[in-house]
Amino acid sequence: MKKYNVSIFVPHEGCPNNCSFCNQKSISGKTTLPMEKDVVSACEIAIKTAPSNQGEIAFFGGSFTAIEREYMMRLLKSAYPFVKEGFFKGIRISTRPDCIDEEICHILKNYGVTSVELGCQSMDDEVLRMNLRGHTSRDVEKAVEILKSFGFETGLQMMTGLYGSDYEKDIKTAEKIIFLKPHTVRIYPTVVLENTLLEIKYKAGEYKVMSLEETIKLCAKLLVMFEENNINVIRTGLHSGGNVEEGFVAGAYHPAFKELCESEIYLEKILTEIKNIPPCEIEFSVPTGALSQAIGQKKKNKIWLEEKGYKVKFTEDKSLKKYTVKCCAGK
Ligand code: SF4
Repeated sequence: MKKYNVSIFVPHEGCPNNCSFCNQKSISGKTTLPMEKDVVSACEIAIKTAPSNQGEIAFFGGSFTAIEREYMMRLLKSAYPFVKEGFFKGIRISTRPDCIDEEICHILKNYGVTSVELGCQSMDDEVLRMNLRGHTSRDVEKAVEILKSFGFETGLQMMTGLYGSDYEKDIKTAEKIIFLKPHTVRIYPTVVLENTLLEIKYKAGEYKVMSLEETIKLCAKLLVMFEENNINVIRTGLHSGGNVEEGFVAGAYHPAFKELCESEIYLEKILTEIKNIPPCEIEFSVPTGALSQAIGQKKKNKIWLEEKGYKVKFTEDKSLKKYTVKCCAGK
């Protein structure tokens, strides 16, 4: 049965922070705050469109537990009956690591929240400081510990290429995230938006953005790291649409970003397989469902191999694990 998720964007207009990459202040007032009736009608539409008890009601926007408490309660109270009645499996929220404590976890638990995602962005304290995050890596560790003790499905969001970061620091962040064993991860390459500190730094030449190519290589590596540690990556790259394309100044943004990263993974695996095989007719098996990623966008990987003299054929093999390649024949 098709599951239907309800997504409700909760802008954080009163946020006291001023993160380097966030344009919340400049867009505040242009987005309307959802009210109880909006939550109810979104849930009712979902139930009519695709009845299922496997969907989630998601309040996203970054800092759910930091919004005004009375307003947060009103949103939860309007969503909770739909969970209690069994129309949805739970409520998902995202928030800041320093806005999680036992008291808030009790509230979330009592109102049907089952998944909490934290924007940790980096586990390097200097990078967090330079990007004015207002929390430390220790806050992330403490929050994860509390969330897990309450039994929440715990997700961590990281950003790559932040001001003051680099390839090695982003890999270290992923290693520290893996150590915390979250259930899910989201990877967001940094994008410079209008009216942000990053825009000022970028235009002043103090911040150099990571190129799309470098970011694809980095995120390909991160995807493999998380996969090898059984951590589900539920998002790679920013969503297309919204205010990203509108206020875009610079950065590694591509609407099919994840596909590009996965193609890079398969190309690297293929290169390892053919390291000692001279140009020949060759067949590669890839996991079922991964053909287009293995062949590459606009057949990039296939063309590249053909230019090197390989006559390649790709087949699917359902016994293969994600991101693995088997070289089946070489003549
Ligand atoms: S990203 Fe930072 S500034 Fe923007 S809403 Fe979240 S905490 Fe506030």
